[in-house]
Amino acid sequence: MNDSHQGKILLVDDRPANLLALRRLLRSVPSTIMEAGSGSEALGLVLENQDLAIILMDVDMPGMDGYEVAEMIKGVRETHHIPIIFLTAAFKDHQHRLRGYRAGGADYIEKPFDEEILLAKVGIFLELHALRQELHLAKERAEKADLAKSEFLATMSHEIRSPMNVVLGMAEVLLETQLDAEQRRLVQVMHHSGKALLTVINDVLDFSRIEAGRLTLCEVPFSPGQVVEETARLMEMTAEERGLSLTRLIAPDVPPATLGDDGRVRQVLINLLGNAIKFTHQGCVDVRLALHPRQPDTLLFRVTDTGIGIPPEQADHIFEHFTQADAGITRRYGGTGLGLAISQRLVQLMGGNIWVESRVGHGSAFSFTLPVRTLDTQAHLTSVMDDALAPPLLPLRILLVEDSADNQSLFRIFLRKTPYQLVTVNNGAEAVSRVKEEPFDLILMDIQMPVLDGYAATRQIRQWEREEGRSPMVILALSAHATEGKKGESLAAGCDDHLTKPIKKQNLLQAIQRVGRVLDGSTMPRSS
Ligand code: ADP
Repeated sequence: MNDSHQGKILLVDDRPANLLALRRLLRSVPSTIMEAGSGSEALGLVLENQDLAIILMDVDMPGMDGYEVAEMIKGVRETHHIPIIFLTAAFKDHQHRLRGYRAGGADYIEKPFDEEILLAKVGIFLELHALRQELHLAKERAEKADLAKSEFLATMSHEIRSPMNVVLGMAEVLLETQLDAEQRRLVQVMHHSGKALLTVINDVLDFSRIEAGRLTLCEVPFSPGQVVEETARLMEMTAEERGLSLTRLIAPDVPPATLGDDGRVRQVLINLLGNAIKFTHQGCVDVRLALHPRQPDTLLFRVTDTGIGIPPEQADHIFEHFTQADAGITRRYGGTGLGLAISQRLVQLMGGNIWVESRVGHGSAFSFTLPVRTLDTQAHLTSVMDDALAPPLLPLRILLVEDSADNQSLFRIFLRKTPYQLVTVNNGAEAVSRVKEEPFDLILMDIQMPVLDGYAATRQIRQWEREEGRSPMVILALSAHATEGKKGESLAAGCDDHLTKPIKKQNLLQAIQRVGRVLDGSTMPRSS
């Protein structure tokens, strides 16, 4: 036995002579020996030394006997793994032996005992202890490495995403200019591939964030039926391009509002509908929302298709990351095998379950549940406005607070042909002093910025408005974090709403238009 096997041994006996004899016997064993003269003393030592390799315990002791001490040690999560060998001169019958094992004893040795055998047994437990420690260390190292990997992936994908958004935005702008047919085709390919790359990056980012425990959900009131309807509308075009019909049904008893992360619910639905469309060659895709027939206060979402189906032996695995039903899938359909892994983790984080029922050649049905979380007041719930009713654009004065020069030029280009006047500053501190100089109709506030971040700047602006008795300017937060639960945070800081980066030209224009309507007195601001 080498030194790495050295462990701590606790001897428990009320008779000093017995303790001495045991200590002598174990002299040759490389270990640290501790002694307790009573059950309560033993318990104290065990709690302080949860890494004990073994306990040699006398059974017959005044006060707490050996069985009671063992039961208490086994009853505590931190100490229940410590092996206990009972030693007894008095209780040698079957009943007592049985009681020893029932109390959690690893062995029950009767005196007089064979010293060699006791030594060999102690040796085995010490080796087991050393192995356990090695395993524990290896597990800790593996968990650390896994976390480091997830954090690395999360950081890298985040860093890749920002410039990629600029590339995509610029390509969109280029597509709006005069191009000959060949140039248009090239830019379209570039845009299409860029979008595909962004999807992969977003998936990796999401997955690694979830794995690193860094994904938080936001908590806002939303209408689940509306989320289903909007997502179906979003995916309709893709379905139609493939000759599929996309039907939806929202049961009348679905509550009009619940609390949660609408963005993440939408993400799960997009994943499921995207897959259903991808793996269906003819027929239809259907999405339904109803209250669960057997679980009270639970929403049941269900996406069914008439596609290729999933073999039963694969159905259990497709929710694992980087897993596809078979190797040919990537070749024929593309994809990373991350969508369902992310969906499953998101649904679980939101307190629900996700499962699949499928028949090869007939189709699949993916279902997931979410608890209904009622609102104290429905007043929060805002409706989506019909953009068709929009009045002509007002020449709003807009302050863009954004530290990235690339993003600044992207916004400038987005707003080029509009009547809006755009002023840009580079951080929150500049924004605070600028708004004191001249009023703006709208502030687009980046969140992550040097010097003073968007939350702090918004708070300072709100405080200044209060002190000066001014009516509050509309502030829209811009951040890559809306999907991480930061929406609530920006509302708390005093922003009126939150736009998620990457910001698309259309979304930006719609948001500004909504603000225009509010300033015109027609309605309340709130993005969809
Ligand atoms: P990806 O779609 O990127 O491959 P997912 O995690 O979304 O990754 O899906 C994993 C696998 O599950 C897919 O590759 C496919 O084999 C199977 N799958 C998912 N949805 C369906 C569906 N509606 N019909 C048939 N197979 C599906």
